[in-house]
Amino acid sequence: MSDMQLDSEARLYRPIAGGDVLCLACAHRCRIADGKRGVCGARVNAGGRLLCPYGWTAALSADPVEKKPFYHVLPGALTLSFGMYGCNFRCSFCQNHELADPASAARPPFAEPASPEGITAAARRLGAAMLVSTYNEPLITAEWGSAVLAEGKKAGLAGAFVSNGYATPEALDFLRPSVDCFKVDLKFFRDETYRKVAGARLEPVKTAIRLMLEKGFWVEVVTLLIPGLNDSKEEVSELAAFLASLSRDIPWHLTAFHPSHLMKDRPRTSPAALEKACEAGLTAGLKYVYTGNIDGGRQDTLCPSCGARLIVRDGYEVTADRVSGTGKCAECGRGMAGFWGPRT
Ligand code: SF4
Repeated sequence: MSDMQLDSEARLYRPIAGGDVLCLACAHRCRIADGKRGVCGARVNAGGRLLCPYGWTAALSADPVEKKPFYHVLPGALTLSFGMYGCNFRCSFCQNHELADPASAARPPFAEPASPEGITAAARRLGAAMLVSTYNEPLITAEWGSAVLAEGKKAGLAGAFVSNGYATPEALDFLRPSVDCFKVDLKFFRDETYRKVAGARLEPVKTAIRLMLEKGFWVEVVTLLIPGLNDSKEEVSELAAFLASLSRDIPWHLTAFHPSHLMKDRPRTSPAALEKACEAGLTAGLKYVYTGNIDGGRQDTLCPSCGARLIVRDGYEVTADRVSGTGKCAECGRGMAGFWGPRT
């Protein structure tokens, strides 16, 4: 690496006794001694000040909003998505493990200098409607993501985080002014699986989803259905009931697992298993249930009242949209839950 400045002082932390700091960016709440890094590898205590990554990107790409996936957010819009290195989870099936590696966060193998103004200008040139902090876990670089999205807001761009949802209430309050939408992975509904597979806990993710809704973020939830790990009828039904207890309007995306990274000992998720999980979601009362990572499946948005097919998708492409503009069903006039335009 060059001698480019890779860090700035974090906002989400507080000093504690003996030169240690307490990081408040995610639910690990790492206590970090001088010279050490938190679990994510991205945040370091330098002489009693917590430093976090700032002013660069490791990945920057124009993607359709459907790829995040968001299905009730600006259908068909282009996003400019950006990411850094590091993660607070250790999932063996990670699909972005090169960026998520905490060792890379501590010593970035690649960093392109960037500024909130430059990213916003690039998004406008591309015709993007939304900036998205994604690829690695955005909560661990919340200060940078928030600065970029705040700049985007000035130019009328919406902002989103694609996250594992391991947020603290402090981080959510910090992010509320700049972030409109969260896509959250609710990976399992068993605490022991969270501990074993991700090195984290279930309860903080549940709490964060509840708080996101209370604080007014638009939230969509994704569950990667992994054969033999989280696809039992009981677990899927409990997870769906939990979401429905918070809001029946939460879109729930059930995506198919493909063997990857360190988890190659399990088969792909079958279409039949995905469909069963979808039925559990609908039985629990969720109004919007989708499948992903398979051809076909449930990818269109239907009106929960009259059943009209309102948003039609072909992969990441939107081929019909009869909601945007009004936020209502074009057939029966029912209000459709979603983020259909920039926050004013
Ligand atoms: S963001 Fe990183 S340093 Fe902060 S609490 Fe989470 S894992 Fe620890």
